[in-house]
Amino acid sequence: MVVRKILLYDNPILRKKCKPVNAVSNEVKKLINDMANTMYANNGVGLAANQIGELLKVIVVDISEERNELLVFINPKITKKEGSQLGVEACLSVPKFEGEVDRSQKIWVKAKNIFFEDLEMETDGYLAVALQHEIDHLSGILYTDKVPKGKLKATEDHKSPKDI
Ligand SMILES: [Zn+2]
Repeated sequence: MVVRKILLYDNPILRKKCKPVNAVSNEVKKLINDMANTMYANNGVGLAANQIGELLKVIVVDISEERNELLVFINPKITKKEGSQLGVEACLSVPKFEGEVDRSQKIWVKAKNIFFEDLEMETDGYLAVALQHEIDHLSGILYTDKVPKGKLKATEDHKSPKDI
Protein backbone atom coordinates (compact mmCIF):
# COMPACT_ATOMS: atom_id res chain seq x y z
CA MET A 1 0.00 0.00 0.00
CA VAL A 2 1.41 3.32 -1.06
CA VAL A 3 0.56 6.45 0.86
CA ARG A 4 1.75 9.55 -0.92
CA LYS A 5 2.82 12.87 0.50
CA ILE A 6 0.08 15.51 0.40
CA LEU A 7 1.16 18.87 -1.01
CA LEU A 8 0.44 21.89 1.14
CA TYR A 9 -1.32 25.15 0.27
CA ASP A 10 1.86 27.07 -0.59
CA ASN A 11 2.89 24.55 -3.27
CA PRO A 12 2.40 26.06 -6.77
CA ILE A 13 1.24 22.67 -8.15
CA LEU A 14 -2.03 23.13 -6.23
CA ARG A 15 -2.66 26.28 -8.29
CA LYS A 16 -2.26 24.60 -11.68
CA LYS A 17 -5.12 23.34 -13.83
CA CYS A 18 -5.30 19.57 -14.17
CA LYS A 19 -5.45 17.87 -17.57
CA PRO A 20 -8.17 15.48 -18.70
CA VAL A 21 -7.47 11.76 -18.56
CA ASN A 22 -7.73 10.00 -21.96
CA ALA A 23 -7.83 6.39 -20.81
CA VAL A 24 -7.56 4.39 -17.60
CA SER A 25 -4.00 3.13 -18.11
CA ASN A 26 -2.12 1.13 -15.48
CA GLU A 27 -0.55 4.40 -14.36
CA VAL A 28 -3.98 5.95 -13.83
CA LYS A 29 -5.14 2.83 -11.93
CA LYS A 30 -2.09 3.10 -9.70
CA LEU A 31 -2.76 6.80 -9.19
CA ILE A 32 -6.35 6.07 -8.11
CA ASN A 33 -5.10 3.41 -5.67
CA ASP A 34 -2.50 5.75 -4.22
CA MET A 35 -5.09 8.52 -3.90
CA ALA A 36 -7.56 6.27 -2.03
CA ASN A 37 -4.81 4.96 0.28
CA THR A 38 -3.57 8.47 0.95
CA MET A 39 -7.08 9.80 1.64
CA TYR A 40 -7.90 6.97 4.07
CA ALA A 41 -4.49 7.10 5.80
CA ASN A 42 -5.08 10.79 6.48
CA ASN A 43 -8.68 10.34 7.57
CA GLY A 44 -9.90 12.57 4.76
CA VAL A 45 -13.22 12.49 2.93
CA GLY A 46 -11.80 13.43 -0.45
CA LEU A 47 -8.64 13.98 -2.43
CA ALA A 48 -7.77 15.47 -5.80
CA ALA A 49 -4.85 14.15 -7.90
CA ASN A 50 -2.92 17.42 -7.77
CA GLN A 51 -2.87 17.19 -3.96
CA ILE A 52 -0.33 14.38 -4.45
CA GLY A 53 1.40 16.14 -7.32
CA GLU A 54 -0.32 14.62 -10.38
CA LEU A 55 -1.90 17.17 -12.70
CA LEU A 56 -4.72 14.92 -13.89
CA LYS A 57 -8.48 15.30 -13.53
CA VAL A 58 -9.10 12.56 -10.99
CA ILE A 59 -10.82 12.83 -7.60
CA VAL A 60 -11.71 10.31 -4.91
CA VAL A 61 -14.39 10.85 -2.25
CA ASP A 62 -15.73 8.81 0.65
CA ILE A 63 -18.11 10.55 3.03
CA SER A 64 -19.23 7.33 4.78
CA GLU A 65 -18.63 6.80 8.52
CA GLU A 66 -17.40 3.26 7.88
CA ARG A 67 -14.93 4.44 5.24
CA ASN A 68 -16.08 1.81 2.76
CA GLU A 69 -17.91 3.78 0.06
CA LEU A 70 -15.17 4.94 -2.26
CA LEU A 71 -16.29 7.08 -5.19
CA VAL A 72 -13.92 7.77 -8.08
CA PHE A 73 -14.56 10.47 -10.68
CA ILE A 74 -12.38 10.94 -13.75
CA ASN A 75 -12.73 14.21 -15.70
CA PRO A 76 -15.60 15.37 -13.45
CA LYS A 77 -17.63 18.36 -14.57
CA ILE A 78 -20.54 20.10 -12.84
CA THR A 79 -23.23 20.55 -15.47
CA LYS A 80 -25.95 22.14 -13.34
CA LYS A 81 -26.26 23.70 -9.87
CA GLU A 82 -29.19 24.62 -7.65
CA GLY A 83 -29.64 26.47 -4.39
CA SER A 84 -26.99 27.19 -1.80
CA GLN A 85 -25.70 25.85 1.51
CA LEU A 86 -23.25 27.28 4.02
CA GLY A 87 -20.96 24.74 5.66
CA VAL A 88 -17.62 24.42 7.42
CA GLU A 89 -14.84 22.99 5.28
CA ALA A 90 -11.30 21.88 5.91
CA CYS A 91 -8.66 20.53 3.55
CA LEU A 92 -5.83 18.00 3.77
CA SER A 93 -3.63 20.55 1.99
CA VAL A 94 -4.44 23.27 4.56
CA PRO A 95 -3.91 21.51 7.90
CA LYS A 96 -5.36 22.88 11.13
CA PHE A 97 -7.65 25.44 9.55
CA GLU A 98 -11.33 25.53 8.71
CA GLY A 99 -13.79 28.03 7.32
CA GLU A 100 -17.34 28.47 6.14
CA VAL A 101 -17.96 28.28 2.40
CA ASP A 102 -21.09 29.00 0.42
CA ARG A 103 -21.71 26.09 -1.99
CA SER A 104 -24.54 24.96 -4.24
CA GLN A 105 -27.08 22.78 -2.43
CA LYS A 106 -27.59 20.44 -5.34
CA ILE A 107 -25.33 19.60 -8.27
CA TRP A 108 -25.35 17.45 -11.38
CA VAL A 109 -21.98 15.89 -12.23
CA LYS A 110 -20.80 14.20 -15.41
CA ALA A 111 -17.59 12.15 -15.32
CA LYS A 112 -16.00 8.84 -16.29
CA ASN A 113 -15.88 5.94 -13.87
CA ILE A 114 -12.88 3.63 -13.29
CA PHE A 115 -13.83 1.66 -16.44
CA PHE A 116 -13.86 4.95 -18.37
CA GLU A 117 -17.62 4.66 -18.86
CA ASP A 118 -19.93 7.67 -18.65
CA LEU A 119 -21.06 8.45 -15.14
CA GLU A 120 -23.82 10.87 -14.21
CA MET A 121 -24.70 11.82 -10.68
CA GLU A 122 -27.23 14.12 -9.10
CA THR A 123 -26.46 14.81 -5.46
CA ASP A 124 -27.00 17.26 -2.64
CA GLY A 125 -25.97 17.95 0.96
CA TYR A 126 -22.49 17.09 2.16
CA LEU A 127 -21.55 14.90 -0.81
CA ALA A 128 -22.31 17.87 -3.07
CA VAL A 129 -20.01 20.01 -0.90
CA ALA A 130 -17.19 17.44 -1.04
CA LEU A 131 -17.51 17.15 -4.83
CA GLN A 132 -17.51 20.92 -5.35
CA HIS A 133 -14.41 21.19 -3.11
CA GLU A 134 -12.55 18.47 -5.03
CA ILE A 135 -13.58 19.68 -8.49
CA ASP A 136 -12.32 23.15 -7.49
CA HIS A 137 -8.93 21.59 -6.68
CA LEU A 138 -8.68 20.37 -10.29
CA SER A 139 -8.93 24.01 -11.43
CA GLY A 140 -6.30 25.18 -8.94
CA ILE A 141 -8.87 26.61 -6.53
CA LEU A 142 -8.62 26.08 -2.76
CA TYR A 143 -11.63 26.43 -0.45
CA THR A 144 -9.71 29.14 1.41
CA ASP A 145 -10.17 31.32 -1.71
CA LYS A 146 -13.91 31.23 -1.00
CA VAL A 147 -13.83 31.90 2.73
CA PRO A 148 -14.65 35.56 3.44
CA LYS A 149 -11.60 37.58 4.46
CA GLY A 150 -10.65 37.11 8.13
CA LYS A 151 -13.03 34.17 8.57
CA LEU A 152 -10.50 31.35 8.24
CA LYS A 153 -10.14 29.80 11.70
CA ALA A 154 -7.32 27.81 13.31
CA THR A 155 -8.43 24.44 14.72
CA GLU A 156 -7.08 21.54 16.74
CA ASP A 157 -6.11 18.47 14.74
CA HIS A 158 -9.23 16.86 13.34
CA LYS A 159 -10.23 13.61 14.95
CA SER A 160 -13.13 12.75 12.67
CA PRO A 161 -13.09 12.58 8.88
CA LYS A 162 -13.64 16.08 7.72
CA ASP A 163 -10.75 17.16 5.54
CA ILE A 164 -11.45 17.30 1.84
ZN1 LIG B 1 -9.03 20.05 -0.27
